[in-house]
Amino acid sequence: MIPARPLFSHIGQTASPGSGRSWQAIWRDAIIDPRELLRLLGLEGQADALLADGDTGFRLRVPRGFVARMQWGDARDPLLMQVLPAAAELLEAPHYSSDPVGDMDARVGTGLLHKYAGRALLIATGSCAIHCRYCFRRHFPYAEETAASGQWREAIDYLRKSADVDEVILSGGDPLSLATPKLAELTRALAEIPHLRRLRIHTRLPIVLPERVDGELLDWLQTIPLP
Ligand code: SF4
Repeated sequence: MIPARPLFSHIGQTASPGSGRSWQAIWRDAIIDPRELLRLLGLEGQADALLADGDTGFRLRVPRGFVARMQWGDARDPLLMQVLPAAAELLEAPHYSSDPVGDMDARVGTGLLHKYAGRALLIATGSCAIHCRYCFRRHFPYAEETAASGQWREAIDYLRKSADVDEVILSGGDPLSLATPKLAELTRALAEIPHLRRLRIHTRLPIVLPERVDGELLDWLQTIPLP
């Protein structure tokens, strides 16, 4: 039987919704220490059994508001399992690869992937508010491969010349981790490419850090001239 705990009681005042802090401040307050996370959930006694015994190469990061939705005392909580660096990640498995979806084969420019007909994907940033253990880009070389470098020039040039591409995906990393003026700069440039018909935004931020959906972001969304 899992002990019941009131929502938010185990993560402290700072993570309560509506605390009035900026989304950037809440972002910076994320939990990055696995033992602190287990302690907040009453699981510190199971740390040695649950945690990876070595460097997984992908550190923990989870916003406190997301932790507040986890079930206190439950090591199998599905939200916890999304973020906790687990021992199983260090097991060797035949045919596993650090690029399981073939991103680097689809690279056509800095931070720009063109894998499918009609659609291109922009690595807008390497930052995420949460680090999901299942992420298929957890080993992606973000330091070199971010389309925002050079004010998006390389990506925009490629898209302008690729008349067959009618859909652009903003991905990453999480594109909404960029400051809103930076996103607006990008979408203004994309809007000038006549053959683009759709924009897709791959983000977890409205779920894992809903404070990101602020007035400035909503204003930007209303100005994007693409569906
Ligand atoms: S890119 Fe998406 S899936 Fe991967 S860690 Fe970031 S938010 Fe999670």
